[in-house]
Amino acid sequence: MSDTLRDRLYSTEAIVLSRRNLGEADRIYDVFTARSGRVSIIAKGARKPESRNGRSLDLLNQVVVHLYHGRNLETVRGVETIATHPGLRTDLDAFGHACYLADLVRAMTHEHEPSEAVYTLLAQTLSLLSDGVDPWPVTRYFEYALLGATGFQAQLYECVRCREPLTAQVNAFSVNDGGVICPRCRVGEPGSIPLSVNAQKYLRTMQREGLRRILTLRLDPDSQMQVQRALAEYLQHLAERSFSSLAVLHALQEKQGPNIGEGERDPAPIQPESRSDDVGNDQ
Ligand SMILES: [Zn+2]
Repeated sequence: MSDTLRDRLYSTEAIVLSRRNLGEADRIYDVFTARSGRVSIIAKGARKPESRNGRSLDLLNQVVVHLYHGRNLETVRGVETIATHPGLRTDLDAFGHACYLADLVRAMTHEHEPSEAVYTLLAQTLSLLSDGVDPWPVTRYFEYALLGATGFQAQLYECVRCREPLTAQVNAFSVNDGGVICPRCRVGEPGSIPLSVNAQKYLRTMQREGLRRILTLRLDPDSQMQVQRALAEYLQHLAERSFSSLAVLHALQEKQGPNIGEGERDPAPIQPESRSDDVGNDQ
């Protein structure tokens, strides 16, 4: 009752995850804010062609929103655009990947749960996709980092079942256990996803050296599919749903042919016999 208008007005950076129409002229947006995590906001009159707020709140835009904290919903008082990611509007593949990221953030976060890590990760990844950086490693890194930021870091160094150190052989990823399991434990987990030595090295490189490093690596197609399946299926398992944006993306890729992960650069292949990064010797 003692709330003044000033207490109820605030501004925050935000990224538009989705939107839906409300009534004749309004829209409700799902946004991920830097201040309060994921929130629903309502923009009155946003569907009218002359609405500046409506234009600024385009899907995947990064904005500053000025909000009024109402009883049930946050109401938009004004919007300033930070980034419109023009590269996403002209590249269907990059746009498809970006929609999948937004879908993941919606599925993996709770409303009003702030996470600077998730906000920064999403903002940076959308910029990279818009700038034309190869979507395959960028999206895999996003999946991996989002798991960590939401408390579900994938375990890669010892068998998550028996706790034995993993050796340099084909192991498997268990979505039920959230990590890699050894061949012996795999017997009791028939739905687990096989991971080649290279696939395991790729995941570990992602963890230890980050995105910049994996952008310089080339992974064989079988290992690519394994890494992709392990991360996507683990996320779907946690979210308890499948992602429609992922199905759209796969349909798109089938139309375009198998070009995942092949950039114009000539990155270094992962050497199967490399001893410096032996999958069995990491702690
Ligand atoms: Zn084991």
